[in-house]
Amino acid sequence: MKNPEVAQLLYDIADMLEMQNVAFKPVAYRKAARSVETLSSDIDELFKSGGREKLMELPGIGEGIAEKIAEFLETGRLEYYDELKRKFPQHITELMNVPGIGPKRIKLLHDKLGIKTVSQLEAAARSHRLSRLPGFGEKLEGDILKGIGVFKAGQERTPLGYALPVAEEIEQRLKGLKAVRRVSIAGSMCRKKETVGDIDILASCRGTAAAERIMDFFTTMPEVSRVLAKGSTKSSVLLKTGLQVDLRVVDDASFGAALQYFTGSKEHNVVVRELAIKKGLKLNEYGVFRKSSNKKIAGKTEEEVYKAIGLRYMEPEIRENSGEVEAAIKNKLPMLIKYGSIRGDFHTHTVKSDGANRLEDMVAAAKKLGYEYIAITDHSKGERIAHGLSNEAMEKWLKEIKAAAAKTKDIRIFAGSEVDILPNGELDFPDDLLKKMDIVVGTVHSRFKSTREEMTKRILTAMENRHLDILGHPTGRLIGKREPYEVDLRKIFAAAAEKKILLEINAHPERSDLKDIHAREAKSFGCKFVIDTDSHSTDGLKFMDLGVAIARRAWLSPEDVVNRRPLKELPKFFRKLKL
Ligand SMILES: [Zn+2]
Ligand SMILES: [Zn+2]
Repeated sequence: MKNPEVAQLLYDIADMLEMQNVAFKPVAYRKAARSVETLSSDIDELFKSGGREKLMELPGIGEGIAEKIAEFLETGRLEYYDELKRKFPQHITELMNVPGIGPKRIKLLHDKLGIKTVSQLEAAARSHRLSRLPGFGEKLEGDILKGIGVFKAGQERTPLGYALPVAEEIEQRLKGLKAVRRVSIAGSMCRKKETVGDIDILASCRGTAAAERIMDFFTTMPEVSRVLAKGSTKSSVLLKTGLQVDLRVVDDASFGAALQYFTGSKEHNVVVRELAIKKGLKLNEYGVFRKSSNKKIAGKTEEEVYKAIGLRYMEPEIRENSGEVEAAIKNKLPMLIKYGSIRGDFHTHTVKSDGANRLEDMVAAAKKLGYEYIAITDHSKGERIAHGLSNEAMEKWLKEIKAAAAKTKDIRIFAGSEVDILPNGELDFPDDLLKKMDIVVGTVHSRFKSTREEMTKRILTAMENRHLDILGHPTGRLIGKREPYEVDLRKIFAAAAEKKILLEINAHPERSDLKDIHAREAKSFGCKFVIDTDSHSTDGLKFMDLGVAIARRAWLSPEDVVNRRPLKELPKFFRKLKL
């Protein structure tokens, strides 16, 4: 989802033009920026599906700006923007990467407080020197601090969904090497944390000659842009994409201990190590040793390591020292939902609204994944820019989906919609239309800056509507781009459990919403979940296991997730759905 980036780019251009006293143009750029900002669909997908013409259908976007957006989407850069930026001092351009402050404010910050860097800005905000500046105030100061947080997160960390395929590809290639015995992704990525700093991979072999061959291979992979360090036990490379990959090679007899050690989390390992000490043992990356004799008693596998300390094996996703060790001791570990166990997707888009593929393409792709069912949920009319459907158009579209469903074998197609939850809490379609849908996903797409009370009331009101089946992407956040909106989730969870409304875990790499700790809390309220990809193309369907990873980090079991159930059980969870 590049909408926030594109909107920011246009806002920045407007600010820079204004600072150069250019007439009219700033207003035009701001109008275009707002149009992109309020667009609920992915501008990238929109562009892919219809090119510049499609962009020009958006309000406030003429040929010139469409051309610039297209350049940015195609190349990730915009020459015009870079050219403008070059006319300003270095510090302005660095600070402009912080969401929420434009050139005008940057100039003021520089002139009044001498601020030139992001860390100076952060220090000034923390010591409340910003709020005293004319036109700033406490609210803005808080927003700037948030913006700095988002900026830092975006700089240092990558959404798991984007980094994981890169790591898995390298893992696979290493597996193919003769010198390699075993390979695994380690570190926070192995625990499936929602963002990752760098990629850690662990491999095992026998003997130093084998280790050197592995390192030669690793440091000369075609995607490597720079070798940061090369040794026989550890090497680090920087990929062309900017991601750093660290590879450690250990003796195969220590692989389990090393994997346990390098997977973490630190907090988990501290507790496990203390337990080992209590038992007269010593645990490090080479194995488990008896303290008295220094005799190695485990190390080859992680299971063996944990067992030697008297613990059951804990899945990496829950190794956060958040109760897993206690559960392992008491033999009360949860049975986590498994990767690849999902049988259908309840939130997908087609070209009918802002998706890139047709209904039949989405269905074919779902079939290919082995799914038993798929729901087609195009946008409601409030999403004008995402080509949300009018009442009449939706009515007609539902009929078409149902006709397609009647003709399709091997997979069940459900007719539904992702319906906007309007600011007053009403759903964006009348009840008699909602009644005709198999599945209704309700989502918030506007007024993200409402107060906590307003947003909570808005969603709770929507949940009063008995046609609502699923609350989609419940916090609205976009990793590294948009903070979640303020909302009292505990009230939402309580209502969802009571009204049997399903909570969505949105598997889109930038959404991951609900996130792990929220989903875990929701489970404690008795909520049930669906894991959806919110796909806007056939490609998007592949992110399902990312949602499963979140569910596993949230300690969810197969029973908690409705779409790992077979088709015939679904009517128990949906009011209107009939088989
Ligand atoms: Zn949505
Ligand atoms: Zn959607």
